[in-house]
Amino acid sequence: MDKQKKYLLSEKEIPTQWYNIQADMPNPMLPPLHPGTKQPVGPDDLAPLFPMELIKQEVSKDRWIDIPEEVRNVYKEWRSTPMVRAYGLEKLLDTPAKIYYKYEGVSPAGSHKPNTAVAQAYYNMKEGVKKITTETGAGQWGSALAYACQKFGIDLEVFMVKISYNQKPYRKLLMNTWGAQVFSSPTDLTDSGKKILAEDPNSPGSLGIAISEAVERAAKDPAAKYSLGSVLNHVLLHQSVIGLEALKQMEMAGDFPDIVIAPLGGGSNFAGLSFPFVHEKIKNGKNIRCMAVEPASCPKLTKGEFRYDFGDTVGLTPLIPMFTLGHTFVPAPIHAGGLRYHGASALVSQLLKDNLVEALAVQQLECFDAGVKFAKAEGILPAPEATHGIAAVIREANKAKEEGKSKTILFNLCGHGHFDMSSYQDYFDGKLQDHHFTDEELHSGLNNLNTPKI
Ligand SMILES: *Cc1c(COP(=O)(O)O)cnc(C)c1O
Repeated sequence: MDKQKKYLLSEKEIPTQWYNIQADMPNPMLPPLHPGTKQPVGPDDLAPLFPMELIKQEVSKDRWIDIPEEVRNVYKEWRSTPMVRAYGLEKLLDTPAKIYYKYEGVSPAGSHKPNTAVAQAYYNMKEGVKKITTETGAGQWGSALAYACQKFGIDLEVFMVKISYNQKPYRKLLMNTWGAQVFSSPTDLTDSGKKILAEDPNSPGSLGIAISEAVERAAKDPAAKYSLGSVLNHVLLHQSVIGLEALKQMEMAGDFPDIVIAPLGGGSNFAGLSFPFVHEKIKNGKNIRCMAVEPASCPKLTKGEFRYDFGDTVGLTPLIPMFTLGHTFVPAPIHAGGLRYHGASALVSQLLKDNLVEALAVQQLECFDAGVKFAKAEGILPAPEATHGIAAVIREANKAKEEGKSKTILFNLCGHGHFDMSSYQDYFDGKLQDHHFTDEELHSGLNNLNTPKI
């Protein structure tokens, strides 16, 4: 029988609106608090950092928000992204489960991140912003935003975590190619960077430090705004285009997932794929499990506390109600850079607390093993972040085999790993290790946290 492998939408069928889960949550998320007054932050507090349209989206309770024509036109460069039936992986695993993946690696930057980068650059341009600052870890976000900023004629400064800046020269060059300026963080351009360097001149940097630098830089420059690639509500909103497409593609396939799986760093690609399915669950009572997969070395969802914490290391951002390991927590140097963040989005955190989504932590060796299996079976070499989802998919497919039951699994192949070959090299050379997260590590970030408890 001729079996269909790949499902694509026509340009007309690309969503015209984003889905906002804030309209449907049984318990709304708690308000972010001002770091000084500890009162809920208002639009005026955020105005120095973000354009007003994004601030409105951050607090909106409207279920559907129109995607501007200009943004949708840029989406057409690579969207719809394919939804693919992973026959090769099913065969390799000899499983009765049906496995589908949504492939976001076809975007110009090679991940899901341009879905929000393009929208954010557009709203900044509309409000006359000339310069944006941001941070990047492994370089995925910086390159997505560099691509988006050059589309809309905005200058971009990227604070790139020093260890990645040194290890991933090609990501930096990609950003430079699209016109962005890239600094190795911590820098001596900001007070936050100087403070860290004074404590440790050899600091390898961290995402939290780079965020402090980028926020400070934008706050001090009236012509500049700041942009964040994950965690915030408007970012998750823009990423919903992934799941909305997948709903239509599942219909084309005449199928529906029993379980939706995605890796989680801050929560944006997980939310992007899963929230439209959580909507089906809330609205139509569909029985779907949605699983976020995190690294065992940075287990905020499975071991962290649900409480208020800063988004950055220095403590400049609003306090966010989220599952966190503490803003001073420094994760072990695993190879999935995009997942090494101390907290999780407030929306995902609230849904986890309310049992509408679930979480799993996986060790790095199991992930790379899953990534290599996937590359052999399906051809695409996954980003190290994406291999976390694949490891969970393999566990679920093996369970289906043991139980002798079929089930339908959908996962987010949120990026390719072409810029991460050195991590695969380390894996092949036997240099990678699992990391057993200790109570000491857990207490290192949480014990001296004096942010409000929930
Ligand atoms: C940034 C990134 C992640 C982690 O961020 P989320 O906001 O949790 O999606 C995961 N995978 C890839 C490929 C990334 O670039």
